[in-house]
Amino acid sequence: LAKERGKNNYQFYTLAMTERSLERMTVERGLRRALAERELRLHFQVQIDSVSGLATGAEALVRWQHPEWGLVYPDRFITVAEETGLIVQVGAWVLREACLQAKAWIENGGPFASVAVNVSARQFLEANLFQTVRDILSETGLNPNALELEITESAVMQNPESTLQVLRQFQALGVRLSIDDFGTGYSNLTYLYRFPVQSVKIDRSFVIGLADDGSSKTLVRAIVALAHELRLSVVVEGVETAEQLAFLTAQGCDSLQGYLFSRPVSAEQFSQAFIGAGLRSHLP
Ligand code: C2E
Ligand code: MG
Ligand code: MG
Ligand code: MG
Repeated sequence: LAKERGKNNYQFYTLAMTERSLERMTVERGLRRALAERELRLHFQVQIDSVSGLATGAEALVRWQHPEWGLVYPDRFITVAEETGLIVQVGAWVLREACLQAKAWIENGGPFASVAVNVSARQFLEANLFQTVRDILSETGLNPNALELEITESAVMQNPESTLQVLRQFQALGVRLSIDDFGTGYSNLTYLYRFPVQSVKIDRSFVIGLADDGSSKTLVRAIVALAHELRLSVVVEGVETAEQLAFLTAQGCDSLQGYLFSRPVSAEQFSQAFIGAGLRSHLP
């Protein structure tokens, strides 16, 4: 009987492996075509200043408009892009598109100050990311301090010393840097102290946890205190309810992102809601 079960487990295991590598191959092939056929899209989620309520910036989030699958979210293709190295091309496309859009919004006046772009570890380690960014900034004419790069703790930790060197180059250029998903990874506070970043983004999992009696409130308080002590600004992502908003602003979080204000939307929708709307508070 044990032998039978072992055999079945083995079959399940190989079936799952096959399905996964099939999915991986399908996504990889599709992604190559997506780059050639211009199927990638950029959505923007507004960032709100917690004191003034003004829309001060946006995070750019990539999507894939697949002819049959519809709108595909990054969770389905970013890992494959990272594993195959396609993230370098995807990332360059995202950077150029985000900078072009930010430049247009800044020229249209309003309080719009910066666009945040997610950068994977692989982009830091494999390609000449610094040169790519510098070229895109001069091509698009966007002021370097209107661009913010979001890196995750785990990306930094994969190769702290070489990442630090690249971060210093960005710092010298005037590009802003933030640590994404803060608090979820292996938080080496020594690096937080040494790294030339301007802000940390508190992960949505802490915001979800605020409803419980657990540790999330304590952790959010501690992260805000630490970040402010290091003169870093605090962005919170995943704000969905008025209760969460009240707690987070009371703790002194500087900038807010979440469905309470807006989901990520197309550039056109973003313009209508946050650029054309003029100077007004978006706090509920
Ligand atoms: P992230 O950078 O932490 O982005 C935040 C994610 O939370 C986004 O998911 C956003 O749509 C979602 N979100 C924001 N507010 C709320 C909220 O109030 N409630 C809920 N339930 N969700 C909220 P998305 O767009 O699916 O992106 C997922 C992840 O994919 C991102 O996490 C980021 O790590 C990665 N990603 C997205 N675009 C890019 C890109 O251009 N390059 C790279 N390398 N990674 C990207
Ligand atoms: Mg992000
Ligand atoms: Mg995040
Ligand atoms: Mg995330």
